[in-house]
Amino acid sequence: MKRLPLTPDVAVIGAGPVGCITALAFAYSGYSVVILEAQPKSAKRLAGEWLHPPAVKILQHFGAWSNLQALEHTTGLGFVVFPDDGTEPIKLNYPDELVGFSCEHNKLVSALQETADDHPSIQLILGAKVIDIEGQKLTFLDIKHQQSQTISVECIVGADGRSSFARKTLNISNHYSLVSYMAGVLLEDVELPFESFGHVFLGGPGPALIYRIGSRQVRMCLDVPIDSQKKASYLWDAYSQVLPKSLLPAFRQALQNSKIAWAANQFSSRTHYGRHGLALVGDATGHFHPMTATGMTTGFLDGECLVRSQSFEAYRRDRKIHTYVPEMLATSLHEVFSRDDDSAVAIRKGIYQMWRQNPTYCVSTMRLLSGAETNLLFFGKSFIKGVALAIVYVINDTVSKRQWQHGTKVLQSFGQWLRSPAASLVRRTLH
Ligand SMILES: Cc1cc2nc3c(=O)[nH]c(=O)nc-3n(C[C@H](O)[C@H](O)[C@H](O)COP(=O)(O)OP(=O)(O)OC[C@H]3O[C@@H](n4cnc5c(N)ncnc54)[C@H](O)[C@@H]3O)c2cc1C
Repeated sequence: MKRLPLTPDVAVIGAGPVGCITALAFAYSGYSVVILEAQPKSAKRLAGEWLHPPAVKILQHFGAWSNLQALEHTTGLGFVVFPDDGTEPIKLNYPDELVGFSCEHNKLVSALQETADDHPSIQLILGAKVIDIEGQKLTFLDIKHQQSQTISVECIVGADGRSSFARKTLNISNHYSLVSYMAGVLLEDVELPFESFGHVFLGGPGPALIYRIGSRQVRMCLDVPIDSQKKASYLWDAYSQVLPKSLLPAFRQALQNSKIAWAANQFSSRTHYGRHGLALVGDATGHFHPMTATGMTTGFLDGECLVRSQSFEAYRRDRKIHTYVPEMLATSLHEVFSRDDDSAVAIRKGIYQMWRQNPTYCVSTMRLLSGAETNLLFFGKSFIKGVALAIVYVINDTVSKRQWQHGTKVLQSFGQWLRSPAASLVRRTLH
């Protein structure tokens, strides 16, 4: 049995997906690592299940791929968007034949924990809750035996999720804004219109994201506005209109059996990365709407970047630059896909037109969505193109219907779509 060195090189707080990958990245670079995880075993919860190709590449690089492939899973080829105007679905393939991966969250986490624990330089301690950090001294409580232990570590990593204790000890506010709720529903024994793809159905109060997580199980993530009722009857009334008929019997059955898991979709900008000696990774740095399914991919890239960076400052700089685009994309897409005012409707039409007319925009979207492309200019070009097409649409509509006053009002409202990403960028630069 492996024994914890009295002074491991690195202590990772949290054995969620990002903590495990960060620990593996350190171990592969020759460091001894201890992972302290408060929970005695990975519990079922509604959280990340879809991984984009850059995450798959990291899993392969750090020896976690074979354990994951042994799980019941689906290989993801991209996404299919079903527009709210009833037009044909739009297929967005991952470029260069790259693939994603999806499986049930707790199985994914258990497999990553197993991979980490199998590494000779990593010791995973389950049921160990970190309760104090002072300088480089870290105290954890063995929950089962109610005994605490203090260790000194040169490098502490806070991978402890949205309510991060590490973040609190750095006096960084855990302030977040509630964006919406997510209802997770499991469908049994259904066939999806495009197997191996994530499906995005628009036209409900928020987007519905549907993908396979096992040979018999399909996950529905239904985005529910804050002021809506969190009830099965609400979900049926709001979403049965936009889903294909073939899924409705299983959807009804799941709702009748009350198989609904709820999660809050929050926004906390990824502006804080910790300090020298105590770095934050994954959701502990900030988190955003899961619309684009990029939380884990972004977190894996944090871990990989932390290990390869020459200094904490270099890590902080790199991630501040490269996480702005995924954060903005998720936030903007969620707004565009859930609002029903005229400017949002026009932007949706602009985006559909952009995808349909030019396959290179489909490739650009998937590069941005998967986290492979994080360049702000690249994002800006696609974003402005979508807004520009929406403006052309509104002008044509105004002229043909001769509704000059209404058209002018809609055109004026486009300013807000550009103001919000700009304000977020300024906030980041100031931190
Ligand atoms: C509804 C929903 C759907 C999502 N879908 C996707 C998706 O499809 N794809 C995707 O990439 N992302 C998705 N996400 C986001 C994804 O779940 C998160 O980004 C991811 O779980 C973050 O991983 P993490 O390891 O940083 O944090 P967590 O998964 O929260 O893990 C943190 C770990 O730290 C432990 N911990 C906390 N405090 C302490 C302490 N004091 N001491 C010791 N241990 C501690 C916790 O027990 C936990 O195990 C989704 C999120 C939601 C809410």
